[in-house]
Amino acid sequence: MKIVRFRHAGQVSMGLLDGATITPLQRFGDMQSLIQALAGDHPSPSDLLADEARKGIPLSDVHLLAPIIPQRNVLCVGWNYLKHFDEGIGKRGQHEVELPEVPTFFSKLPTTVADPFDDLPLHEAHTQKLDWEVELAVIIGKKGRDIPEEQALEYVFGYCAANDLSARDLQRAHGGQWFKGKSLDGTCPLGPWVLTADELKDPQTLHLQCHVNGEQMQRGHTRQQIFPVGRIIAELSAGLTLLPGDIILTGTPDGIGAARNPPIFLRDGDVLETSIDQLGTMRNTIRAGL
Ligand code: MG
Repeated sequence: MKIVRFRHAGQVSMGLLDGATITPLQRFGDMQSLIQALAGDHPSPSDLLADEARKGIPLSDVHLLAPIIPQRNVLCVGWNYLKHFDEGIGKRGQHEVELPEVPTFFSKLPTTVADPFDDLPLHEAHTQKLDWEVELAVIIGKKGRDIPEEQALEYVFGYCAANDLSARDLQRAHGGQWFKGKSLDGTCPLGPWVLTADELKDPQTLHLQCHVNGEQMQRGHTRQQIFPVGRIIAELSAGLTLLPGDIILTGTPDGIGAARNPPIFLRDGDVLETSIDQLGTMRNTIRAGL
């Protein structure tokens, strides 16, 4: 199932996307309540739609929103593609490191989450180095701690595309802690839909791409992840309870602006496209003054 959150006629609703039609799910106020409803045994779209009016709305008539608003920080993995780790060598200032043997974790505040087709702030007063990072986002479907890697995908509700926009100058400042440079408002567009895990058995099978003004900046494949999704969940949940609705960003492939020669950073009016196989394309315009 493809699950969307959308605004139509002034009202925000959840819905099921089928082709170019959305069937609203009036009973569910947000993604968290849908995750709860789907926690039973293999529910199907017909179960969800049982009590619904089944009156479809054309996709073109709605404004798609971030499918889920997290209740705590978006959890993130850094340096999860070898070429991306390598492209940063010599460009990390005082913070050069060896390739980690366990995943590097950090987080972004919930207020970073942005809608898949909205304008995003350039934050020109605070950063001169706003950069892009296409990433596969994992939505956790059930509570768990010390989750074994072999069972980890059973804890996944679904997947969507994300962009981990990063203020590189702030990321290198502040003691080398990435939190500030990764947590500016509107720096985590999510969407356009969540594909439920029953329709994506293996998350290591997806191309992901990022374009700026139509030019391809990143192209990678999730099979290139150093730590696959199952390992990330196992490592992250060790001694730390993951909750339904938690979002995990799984790292970005090479092609970021900071590593280019010369470096390229986002400017006012740039159109950022974030695409992943089966998960759709987000299109955000970067705006000064927001
Ligand atoms: Mg990232």
